Amino acid sequence: MQFALVCCIVFLFVRIVMKLFRIPLWLWLLFVVAGLGYAFHPYLLAQMMQMEQKRLLAQPEPMVEQMPERLDFGRQMADLRYLASDELAGRGTGQPGGAKAQQWLAAEFTHIGLVAAGTAGYLQPYQPTTGKAQLMKGAANVLGRIEGSDPALPMLVLTAHYDHLGVHQGKIYFGADDNASGVAALLALARYFKQYPPRHTLLFAALDNEETGMWGARMLFEQELLKPEQIKLNINMDMLSQNTQQQLIAVGSYHYPELEKPLQQLQQQSSVRLLLGYDRPAWLVGTHQDWTFSSDHREFHKRAVPFVYFGVPDHAHYHQPSDTAENIDPEFYREVSETLLDAVLLFDAS
Ligand SMILES: [Zn+2]
Repeated sequence: MQFALVCCIVFLFVRIVMKLFRIPLWLWLLFVVAGLGYAFHPYLLAQMMQMEQKRLLAQPEPMVEQMPERLDFGRQMADLRYLASDELAGRGTGQPGGAKAQQWLAAEFTHIGLVAAGTAGYLQPYQPTTGKAQLMKGAANVLGRIEGSDPALPMLVLTAHYDHLGVHQGKIYFGADDNASGVAALLALARYFKQYPPRHTLLFAALDNEETGMWGARMLFEQELLKPEQIKLNINMDMLSQNTQQQLIAVGSYHYPELEKPLQQLQQQSSVRLLLGYDRPAWLVGTHQDWTFSSDHREFHKRAVPFVYFGVPDHAHYHQPSDTAENIDPEFYREVSETLLDAVLLFDAS
């Protein structure tokens, strides 16, 4: 009723303005369309968001109660605790903790027996050239490879950034979930595939500088260590160990629809609530989040390399000093890690 009244008043007002200023009919129509669009905008937005929410939640509930134990989770948790310890002090790029993390990761890659794939052994040192990051010295990615049994196949690139916010105003930002969890999973997967060799070559990339402009991922391509045409898929892991609703988001199948089928199969094999989404632009889904450019996978996507990004929604400890090893959810983290192993197995088999 109120809406009709407003419409009548607007209509009369516009008629008077038209008479006074001799506004042509097409302009009048334009006013009407713009007015209606403005009036219905909140309604349309709400509808779009509801549809997207339904699409996300329409995915089947987990069909599996528990994942098998194929990864050495005890070892993985010890790695996470070390990465998120006082000693590494939040692994800030250019800070002593960041340098220690680099050295430790290179030593772990050696123990596992990965082929060195950096420009200086396992390391790929580089210097960011713009923004805040250009003040940071000593940045480096840590890269190791397991050769696939079929050399004709393009490689799978597994990425997880090891840097976090470091020490800031006297406080340590430990970054246990963000992203010690992804790096410890990367190491666990490397140990697994060393034992059970894959068909595709797997590149394990612990990346630097994600928090300050994703320079690590960018430099993989800018220093021509990688060429887009050599890569079948980027699997990016960033924040895997905290979610009260047991949700893990797989981002990327909107841009690369060929990934939808294997990801749906993964859903059916997983005990976590794996949701496919957070990758559609706002004009399709209202103000729902779009994580297409939110972590290192963005540098692969920019070069048209397909990606899947696995991560949990932001939580209370996100980018806080309270993101500590004590605050992660180990059981959820274990189930997620086994799900990621299945993901790599699926993509390696296809
Ligand atoms: Zn992160």
